[in-house]
Amino acid sequence: MPLTSESILLAQSAMRRAHQYNGPQDGLIHDEMIAVAVNIAAVKRSWPRERKMVAYVQQISGLRGDAIDGLWGDETQRAYDALVHRRLFGSAEPSWRPEDRSERNPNNWPSQGSTDAALTAYYGAPGTRLVPLTPPYPHYLAWAPDQQARTIRCHALVRDSLERVLTKVLRIYGPHEISRLRLDQFGGCYNDRPMRGGTRRSTHSWGIALDYDPTNNQLRWGADRASFAHPEYTAWWDCWEEEGWLSLGRTRNFDWMHVQATRI
Ligand SMILES: [Zn+2]
Repeated sequence: MPLTSESILLAQSAMRRAHQYNGPQDGLIHDEMIAVAVNIAAVKRSWPRERKMVAYVQQISGLRGDAIDGLWGDETQRAYDALVHRRLFGSAEPSWRPEDRSERNPNNWPSQGSTDAALTAYYGAPGTRLVPLTPPYPHYLAWAPDQQARTIRCHALVRDSLERVLTKVLRIYGPHEISRLRLDQFGGCYNDRPMRGGTRRSTHSWGIALDYDPTNNQLRWGADRASFAHPEYTAWWDCWEEEGWLSLGRTRNFDWMHVQATRI
């Protein structure tokens, strides 16, 4: 299937959310949209307009690298269908492959349990075993964006995994996209406090949770408002989930800023 007005409309709304496009939402290709599409590294300026637009749709569908070729084949169709499903239902299409359905938890993060005892048994008392990590790309304090967080204080047991996640994020997105998508707006890691709106300790109390871009992913916002629910962030969440980290947004559709090294 080539481009349709539906896929072009979807591209228009993605560009609008990213503040890259102010033109009409009419399912037609406009010059302003081509200017956005050619910013994708894989896109060649010699390609015709439609091919550039297909490349943009491939990008927002979560395809990366060589898969962004501007040609609408089976792989593009599958990625696009999954994107439409996510937009309609706010979550990934349930996989029919049993090996994909098993939960990834390579680091064996503990289950959160029904009391704080489960996390304390694994991680120790809140506020203990904290170590510094120098993030592989600059992190800025979300509440003071001109200030850089030189180190992240986190639990010793999650440090190496966290470093792998952020290193992969840097490799996949690169500094420009990290900045544009606000993956560098750091909302904090270790913070000994009760869970917001709850009675238990927050997972931040052990230094095993991180918040990103809290401004655009507020606690009570669902996928209809949170920026991290957009398809451009699929690869971001893959980086975390491959290491077994849990996004409350992806699993519970609230607190999209938050990711933690536990299972629910
Ligand atoms: Zn949090």
